[in-house]
Amino acid sequence: MYKIVFATSNQGKMREIRAILQDTEAEILSMKEAGVFLEIEENGTTFTENAIIKAQAVAQALSGKEGFQADCVVLADDSGLEIDCLGGEPGIYSARYLGEETPFDRKSQDFLRRLEGVADDKRTARFVCAIAAVWSDGGVYTTLGTIEGRIGHELKGDNGFGYDPIFYLPEYGCTAAELSDEEKNRISHRSRALEQMKPELMKRMSR
Ligand code: IMP
Repeated sequence: MYKIVFATSNQGKMREIRAILQDTEAEILSMKEAGVFLEIEENGTTFTENAIIKAQAVAQALSGKEGFQADCVVLADDSGLEIDCLGGEPGIYSARYLGEETPFDRKSQDFLRRLEGVADDKRTARFVCAIAAVWSDGGVYTTLGTIEGRIGHELKGDNGFGYDPIFYLPEYGCTAAELSDEEKNRISHRSRALEQMKPELMKRMSR
């Protein structure tokens, strides 16, 4: 059976990925489940570069392991929030903003403070997700998904993670943290990038 190894240890992302890729009929493993325990330095300058760096590092670690030489693809994502009136901040630094250990409520409150007095039509923002696939022959394929929204005026909702409570979706009249997992999976930047990746995965897996 084909193996898809996803270069993350984030359980929320793994749940989302398993749901979206379930009909590929591949075995879907997190990097830990595949026996890879790596701290990867994300030193790229774009979401796409960082996704490639992570996928290549895990593919390299797997290349010596039995069962992972062929019929295996490594996927990695890099994602974040871009706030237009802040020149695209926090962007690739979304997780690192104010330090990795700072809770997201605090990071989110900080953006609300920085946007005080900014009118609704200037609070536009998007979540961006780049996904990179690295095959055992070294081949690389990347996709990019986005979802547009606005920064709200307060934190709202208990679902989701990260900046979801301040990411307001005008078409839905609520924040991303007020959507159910299923609703968010259907429209998220990550699902859009994964859906674009799926045909390429299917094509390579059927060879
Ligand atoms: P990554 O794990 O390196 O891709 O960093 C992603 C960071 O971007 C997360 O820690 C969050 O801060 C933010 N982020 C990405 N996707 C989402 C999302 O769907 N909701 C909320 N925050 C997100």
